[in-house]
Amino acid sequence: MKLEVVTVGTELLLGYTVDTNAAELGRALAAAGIEVVRRTTVADRPDAIRAAVADALQRTGVVVTTGGLGPTRDDVTKRVVAELCGKRLVLDPAVLSTIEARFRQLGRWPMPESNRSQAEVPEGATVLPNPRGTAPGLWLEDERGRLLVLLPGVPSEMRGLLAEQVLPRLAQRDGGDRPRVVLSRTLRTTGVAESSLAERIGRLDEEVAPLTLAYLPSPDGVDLRLTAWGLEQGEAEARLAAALRRLRPIVGEDCYGEDATDLAAVVLEALRRGRHRLGVAESCTGGLVAQRVTAVPGASDTFVGGVVAYADVMKTAALKVPLEILQAHGAVSEETVRAMAVGAQRLFSADCTVAVTGIAGPTGGTPDKPVGTVWLAVAVDTKLRALKRLFPGDRDEVRRRSAQAALDLLRRALATS
Ligand code: ATP
Ligand code: MG
Repeated sequence: MKLEVVTVGTELLLGYTVDTNAAELGRALAAAGIEVVRRTTVADRPDAIRAAVADALQRTGVVVTTGGLGPTRDDVTKRVVAELCGKRLVLDPAVLSTIEARFRQLGRWPMPESNRSQAEVPEGATVLPNPRGTAPGLWLEDERGRLLVLLPGVPSEMRGLLAEQVLPRLAQRDGGDRPRVVLSRTLRTTGVAESSLAERIGRLDEEVAPLTLAYLPSPDGVDLRLTAWGLEQGEAEARLAAALRRLRPIVGEDCYGEDATDLAAVVLEALRRGRHRLGVAESCTGGLVAQRVTAVPGASDTFVGGVVAYADVMKTAALKVPLEILQAHGAVSEETVRAMAVGAQRLFSADCTVAVTGIAGPTGGTPDKPVGTVWLAVAVDTKLRALKRLFPGDRDEVRRRSAQAALDLLRRALATS
């Protein structure tokens, strides 16, 4: 099956919102063996939406839209699509009572009159229930067998409807014979450069053909993504698993997980296994490490707390970094970061700590400590490890890379302790 995606939203064209819906649709549909052959983005304008949807429908006969299902005046997708299909909008009492119940439950009663319009449905359309929001999705087929699927713009709502309603219905519509899929598996690495990975991996990509191997660098590390194109599900899975078994030993300990695995979750699991308790002391990352750790559900059984010791006075007061060390070596130094990690052990009564201090820029660099210089330390019981890194990128990137490197240093320390 081939289809087109139309994302609706003036904010997408202006660049205020990144079109993550189109990307997610591409991934999820490809994984289900459905090819997105074109995507179009249009403003919240009836004429633009009408033209884009009509053209797409003519080309492929199947169109998925996101956005413009809301109650405000700029949300017009549903009205335009109904017109295009020659259907009237009729109030659906079941949808209305679901929306009313949601407003009551959220304590927003009486419901604003404008939300009633979200219960209007093009005649003959199938309502796709949306438990995460007010606007339901809509599934419209015309007499000629052409299909229009309307999804809300809010990414979490779009994602939920896609998985729970749209993909199963598309699979059913696609008929019985074994679907061919586009399937990917990813190995996540960090702390190693793309080029040195490539050297180690060599020409493995030729050996795993017809799978393809992509190197995807980001501030968090390099993802190695293997993709099977247009194979039957079982064969794609088997080939990917075999290729991963080849790749994994080559990447070794630089790999921290597969697919969407988050490094912070991996670290927390390792801490839990060793019955450790974690505290963090951060300077240039300003709490990013703690943020990463606490973003993982269940962190509370392992994570004690963090301190952002930005000014020297906080490093001496909260972390007991000796003033002499700060004066002799500076805040960004091996001696200071070690003292921060040890100080955090005491402050949090935690056996395990991470400390970060560095120069995120754009100012503050010196010839011997340029912008991007970051010292990291990890303490596990009485063992202390420190590491200097020099990160490229702007302030944001240096901070993000530092947080990831701090977590990675801890991961590697735990693996050998
Ligand atoms: P609602 O019922 O919440 O109004 P809606 O279907 O009308 O939903 P929009 O108003 O178009 O959706 O968008 C809701 C939110 O989702 C906005 O914050 C918007 O920026 C965001 N959004 C819309 N389209 C996309 C997209 N393609 N990718 C990522 N975010 C999007
Ligand atoms: Mg919108």
